[in-house]
Amino acid sequence: MSENAGQPRRVVFLGPPGAGKGTHATWLAQQGAMLHLSTGDMLRAAVREGTELGSQAKQFMDAGKLVPDALIIDMLFETLSARGGEAASGWILDGFPRTEPQAVALDERLDAKGEQLDAVLLFDVDSDELVERLSSRLTCKGCSAIYNRRLRPPEVEGVCDRCGGNVVQRADDEPAAVRKRLEVYADQTAPLIDYYDQRGKLLRIDAARSIEEVRGAVLRHLGIGHTETEH
Ligand code: AMP
Repeated sequence: MSENAGQPRRVVFLGPPGAGKGTHATWLAQQGAMLHLSTGDMLRAAVREGTELGSQAKQFMDAGKLVPDALIIDMLFETLSARGGEAASGWILDGFPRTEPQAVALDERLDAKGEQLDAVLLFDVDSDELVERLSSRLTCKGCSAIYNRRLRPPEVEGVCDRCGGNVVQRADDEPAAVRKRLEVYADQTAPLIDYYDQRGKLLRIDAARSIEEVRGAVLRHLGIGHTETEH
């Protein structure tokens, strides 16, 4: 994979749960293209490790609700300070911001350093397709790799192809939590589409297409070259 000099370096992946943000950001990170920072993965790690943040966040996550802004903003900014410079080609925020106060806090933090977001990629998918995808989604507890029970199962049932970890359905991918998460997205996160559109940052991707087609669109928007043989 080759990088262009003008490649965006500070990118947000925006879109409803199940739209493919994690799948594409994970793939880009595996290619060494960009650093993938997922607030959902950070929170799940905190829950696994039994930290104070993890125990505060768990009740919200299991119910499909958002974790309070103050907790999330601190966690993300600490991670950005510690790891933000790891990939010379920049970072992708996956699952952050999810509310207007989070978006404003991010703009202010970047602004204070004389920086700004380069692009916000909106993964657009209608809600029937999302329910279908989320209810068949499986996730590795070890490395967060994403599978699909029907379309892309792991080679050995329950075992991650990548790290050998346990592949399970997330508690918040159960139908009741999925409905709640889609409602929360419509109420609290969808307004960010206008927020970023008004600031000239928004790039829309029709994410109802195949993984390969969406990946092509992501790479084009990010100005990253790739060959047809890459998977
Ligand atoms: P995700 O893996 O991005 O779907 O996130 C899983 C869950 O973590 C969400 O349903 C929320 O409970 C919580 N979460 C992740 N990111 C955020 C955020 N930026 N703001 C608030 N809660 C979040």
